[in-house]
Amino acid sequence: MVRRVLLLSLFVNLFLGSDAMADSPYTYNDLEHDLVLLQAKYPAKIIYASIGETNYGRQIYALRIGHGKKTILLSGAHHGREWMTSMLLIKMAAVYAANLEKDPMLERGAIWIVPMVNPDGVSIQQGDYSGIPWQDRMALWKMNRYSLSFTRWKANGKGVDLNRQYPAGWKEMKTGVNRPSYQFYKGTSPISEPETKALARFTESIKPAISAAYHSTGQEIFWHYQTSGQQKERDYRLAKAVADSTGYRLSKPDKNAVGSGFTDWLIHEFKFPAMTIEIGKERENTEVPLHEFEAEWESNREVGWLLLEEAIRSGQK
Ligand SMILES: [Zn+2]
Repeated sequence: MVRRVLLLSLFVNLFLGSDAMADSPYTYNDLEHDLVLLQAKYPAKIIYASIGETNYGRQIYALRIGHGKKTILLSGAHHGREWMTSMLLIKMAAVYAANLEKDPMLERGAIWIVPMVNPDGVSIQQGDYSGIPWQDRMALWKMNRYSLSFTRWKANGKGVDLNRQYPAGWKEMKTGVNRPSYQFYKGTSPISEPETKALARFTESIKPAISAAYHSTGQEIFWHYQTSGQQKERDYRLAKAVADSTGYRLSKPDKNAVGSGFTDWLIHEFKFPAMTIEIGKERENTEVPLHEFEAEWESNREVGWLLLEEAIRSGQK
């Protein structure tokens, strides 16, 4: 047992997220590298594929751990500056795939992870403009209000905020931003972007029982959108369990919740439990610093298991 744990931590530290464990941000290249390694290491447990392509030719990846019928969907980095959520989800995949005790759960259910919904946005936020023609780089600079620091970048490569893109409440949504920008621009119509199209289509095809969308910051869980009655009670119970497990606080139900986010859409349209989990200490307009990663990982290490267990249990009713 001790030997296995040692080997696992060696593997995780040496190979998976090796850059992530060091002192540099988790990049799209790190993600591609880790996906190859994960599949090679756990060919019977993990598969991955591209579910779409961004405006600048990057792939939007999904990976699956386990092969049971009941599935949950975890997603990360809808927003460029929130790449730590990708790092966290890949670490979760590595640790879960190595966990022999919980193997039976991976026979009965499966965890789908879309670790980086917005790889163009992540790359821009990290100062990687490769694949972007110079005219478009000028446009990005303008969308960034002529600042050369892109650390606050949330949008995709075309200046659309991908979590203001979903149909539930989109029309009513007033963000105060009516042109492409580093944040808050909702686009010309719902699900107009390649990233949101890919994720929406994918979600409809896998029909998850539960979804958690990872964002930052605030150590808070959002779990309701105009919900009431039994749906609200059910979703509250699950969100409460996640809050107890992570130590994060639960958002208060709000009748005037803004909407147009991925979680809002799932709750509203499909009526299964969905939540948004905000990692990292509250902080405005930038990434979560790397020194917070280990603590955030520890807070979230059981979340996938907890949601999968609930999905399997609810499927038996
Ligand atoms: Zn976000």
